[in-house]
Amino acid sequence: MVNFDNLCQTISVCKDCDLYYSRKNAVCGEGTASSGIMIVGEAPGQKEDLEGKPFIGRSGKLLDSILSREGLSRSEVYISNAVRCRPKLGVAPKVAEIKKCSKYLKYEIESIKPRIIVPMGNSALKAVGIVLGFSFPKVTEISGKIYKVKDYYVIPQFHPAAILRNPKKLEIFKDNFVSTISFLMGVTGKEGLSEREVLKA
Ligand code: SF4
Repeated sequence: MVNFDNLCQTISVCKDCDLYYSRKNAVCGEGTASSGIMIVGEAPGQKEDLEGKPFIGRSGKLLDSILSREGLSRSEVYISNAVRCRPKLGVAPKVAEIKKCSKYLKYEIESIKPRIIVPMGNSALKAVGIVLGFSFPKVTEISGKIYKVKDYYVIPQFHPAAILRNPKKLEIFKDNFVSTISFLMGVTGKEGLSEREVLKA
């Protein structure tokens, strides 16, 4: 049986990389993936670091609004991050830090077994790639594309923080989630399988 309480306890005292020095609270993954979707972000932001919960700031609010537009609540998806501790000044985590932290994401993916993984942004793509043994191109080149890697469909997406900085990409962000949910309905047999191209890794 999966014991996420133990996982969270382990993460909360982890000192395996330098991000340990800059955090107030390590932030564990959250949710159930009962829908079949796991979403991976980059790192806790200021609010998340203070409260120890994932995606509760402005990015989280944007994500929640897009999910609820598609009929999904936060509790139906599992939300995690590439790294669990906030980098200093909110800069992107280093590859070495993502590698160190990827053991926790690996445990979550292998325990939850989501049908679809949505890595949001390049740090999340790097982390998911490390866990699945595949090197993804940058998110600007592949957002919305569908990859089959091992047992999982991976559909990369922009990070909501990037959308808040550049609202011109909001429609692409929304469309990617619409087609991700539609693809999910197909792979779970709730609707006909969409004929979108699936890239084999
Ligand atoms: S970012 Fe991950 S590996 Fe680094 S200290 Fe935090 S929990 Fe440990």
